[in-house]
Amino acid sequence: MEIEPTGSWGYGEGPLIIAGPCSAESEEQVLTIAKALRATGRVNIFRAGLWKPRSRPSSFGGEGFRALSWLRRVKEETGLPVAVEVASPLHVEACLKDGIDVVWLGARTVSNPFSVDEIVAVLAGTDIPVLVKNPLSPDVELWIGAIERVYSAGIRKIAAVHRGFTPYEKNRYRNIPKWELAIELRSRIPSLPVLCDPSHMSGKAALVPETSQKAIDMNMAGLMVEVHHDPRHALSDRDQQLDPGAFTGMMDKLVFRSKTSSDTGFLNRLEELRNRIDSIDQQIIELVAARMRISIEMGEFKCLNDVAVFQLERWIEILETRTQNGISEGLDEEFTGRLIRMIHEESIRCQDKVMEDLRRDMRCPPDARQGE
Ligand code: PEP
Ligand code: MN
Repeated sequence: MEIEPTGSWGYGEGPLIIAGPCSAESEEQVLTIAKALRATGRVNIFRAGLWKPRSRPSSFGGEGFRALSWLRRVKEETGLPVAVEVASPLHVEACLKDGIDVVWLGARTVSNPFSVDEIVAVLAGTDIPVLVKNPLSPDVELWIGAIERVYSAGIRKIAAVHRGFTPYEKNRYRNIPKWELAIELRSRIPSLPVLCDPSHMSGKAALVPETSQKAIDMNMAGLMVEVHHDPRHALSDRDQQLDPGAFTGMMDKLVFRSKTSSDTGFLNRLEELRNRIDSIDQQIIELVAARMRISIEMGEFKCLNDVAVFQLERWIEILETRTQNGISEGLDEEFTGRLIRMIHEESIRCQDKVMEDLRRDMRCPPDARQGE
């Protein structure tokens, strides 16, 4: 896929900053917010939801088609291009007719390939920029699938938006970020700009600046931020919307780092550090492979001696000692636990396989079970 970088969409160079209220509530509301955002000089595109995908039918569902003319006024009076979420072919038709500049597919829509197909059928033949939020669940194929569908309609101005994934249990975030998934997406489609929506990710205004900085540090191509002139009285997502003052404060503090530097001193040092990392990675792989070989040998040994039962005490001891080692080396406790679990699982898988092979050769009792 060859996707056009956001810099050539006509909305400005540098990180793409999209801001505006969760929902368009009245003509006066969108104009007030858009003028305040325009005055900050930091916003490339104004956002507002007209059709709100609310979880419960009793929540505010947006002002719908009649709000399109409010956004026309926003454009006329502020010069800001406007972006709207579309969830059906009718929404797309209305947006195209009313001169909406950018559309986005929300997380719920992206989760349903049938909906994406229906929307894409109406987008075909246009060159309107389309933003594709991540689906509700951390399924990178579903996310890529929606992007491919949009691409297949001939759209070349596409950006993904990482807005986090729905947690089942209470979490610090409303929608948990999975930065590694956004990185995977970027490595699978290198020309694709990936933005971040720190508002739906955070779920609370106080967490938005930190999340935005994290996104910038991860070299994301821009931000989509919810801003309301009076968040406490917003009709949707009131906890996570920034007021224009907080938005400006955040933008002033964000540190945008350049992708790279042409300074020779910097490049030499970077090269040296990368070489060291390459060599350590190579050693990690070799050590893990050596550990696996021992584990397989142990599987054979136990199997042949009929002593192979999963040894819970040994596993608990491994987990405890390695986690303590990790902590004393300055590693994160949770990360160390995950790493050891992963290695142990692979160990079990290898031992399982060796047992199967031995059983097939009838060199091992049929009910032996391995463990470390
Ligand atoms: C939104 O941006 O207003 C929205 C509903 O987002 P999401 O689809 O990410 O939940
Ligand atoms: Mn919202």
